[in-house]
Amino acid sequence: MESEIRVRFAPSPTGYLHVGSLRTALYNYLYARKVKGKFILRIEDTDQTRYVEDAVENLIKTLHEVGLKYDEGPDIGGNYGPYFQSQRTKIYKKYADELIEKDAAYFCFCTPEDLDNMREEQIAKGEDTRYDGRCRKLLKEDIQKKLAENKPYVIRAKIPDEGEVVFFDIVREKVSIMWETVDDQILIKSDGFPTYHLANVVDDHLMKITHVIRGEEWLSSVPKHLFLYNTFGWKPPKMCHLPLLLNPDKSKLSKRQGDVAVEDFLKKGYLPETLLNFVVLLGWHSKSDEELYSLEELEKEFSLKRINKSGSVFDIEKLNWMNGHYLRELESGYIAIKARPFFIEAGFDISDNEKYLKIIEVARNRISTLAEITEVATPFYVAIKYSEEDRQIIDDENSQRLFSFWLENMQSLDVITEDNINRLLKQSTDELGIKGKDLYFPLRLALFGSVHGPELPTIMDILGKEKTLERFEKLIN
Ligand code: GLU
Repeated sequence: MESEIRVRFAPSPTGYLHVGSLRTALYNYLYARKVKGKFILRIEDTDQTRYVEDAVENLIKTLHEVGLKYDEGPDIGGNYGPYFQSQRTKIYKKYADELIEKDAAYFCFCTPEDLDNMREEQIAKGEDTRYDGRCRKLLKEDIQKKLAENKPYVIRAKIPDEGEVVFFDIVREKVSIMWETVDDQILIKSDGFPTYHLANVVDDHLMKITHVIRGEEWLSSVPKHLFLYNTFGWKPPKMCHLPLLLNPDKSKLSKRQGDVAVEDFLKKGYLPETLLNFVVLLGWHSKSDEELYSLEELEKEFSLKRINKSGSVFDIEKLNWMNGHYLRELESGYIAIKARPFFIEAGFDISDNEKYLKIIEVARNRISTLAEITEVATPFYVAIKYSEEDRQIIDDENSQRLFSFWLENMQSLDVITEDNINRLLKQSTDELGIKGKDLYFPLRLALFGSVHGPELPTIMDILGKEKTLERFEKLIN
């Protein structure tokens, strides 16, 4: 029987969390929750040339913001740490030595120049470009001599030349790859750091990872990894490669065609609930094909079996629709908290909490991202700027009569209630003979700056009696 299931999200810190990585993290998280296993965060930061400051902090912050909690990780520790690969280099060195000893890896002293020449020759001959294995043939004495001379070297895997490797992937099912297409992968670079391939395999083994769930772009690396597992005599984890994320034109999802960073989506006012729900459907479907799921529901519903084979198109319209749904449906106090930074950024004074909450209640039904909320809220916070066209409506004789009527009749209202306002609306029709659009448009324009918008009692309630009267008064010629 399999003991505890352990999965990991193993990002290389590149500065932001890509939506594709969010999906990988989410699927790992959900699978762990579903089977009551462990979800581990491991930072794959052995590529010193790609170091980005604050990248790890950003990544962790974003994971927290969307609510993907891990059981072990760099900031919380665990029994299998350290969880930064850059702090594990000694471990990899030991295993690289073991591979050399087992004759499954070799020192390669080729210079960048040698490699360039090799490439050019191969291209000229119309061959596939790859390392031709020339350092495999070095004699022991030569190797010792070069090492003694401190010649720079890398360590490469001695990948078999022929035959094929067959493995089972949970999504792709049976996969076979010819060994001759697999390069003698560099395992230790000339700076002494391991490459992704060595570090990844060693860590997955030492951290007792049972399932590797990651993007399809890593599928072709599996043979190299299996070669290492077999050489060490380790049981490889189960493999599960997720379908590609695509732009609407079916090209691979890229920054060029729009946002891909999760933090940018959050900044634009997409809710974490939306992002998780949206992203889970990029490559997975539920039994019922139901589309709206909370994280809690997904923790019960998710299954690796229903991951799709084909790529998923990132449809921004669907994302907007879904965000609109969550903005309307989630608890209004929660939306109020999420919306705060946008109001502060807009410079609105939201110290009147009662007013703020009323505005949230009105505005959240009219937007698809939180970034749009302050636009809807603007007329409640700052003086309205009327356009030429607005002025024509305002100066109209009927409008002027209406404003005067309201100014006069509203004074005596103790409180603004729906009933009170509706009564005055009816009275306007009865006494002034103004109804329908002619009644509602000028009033709404006067108070809200637009002929369309929330109900008049709602607008007046939010503005309060004083402000409402003030606005009418100012418009009377
Ligand atoms: N560090 C790799 C990445 O950035 C992880 C791939 C894997 O999960 O094995 O995507």
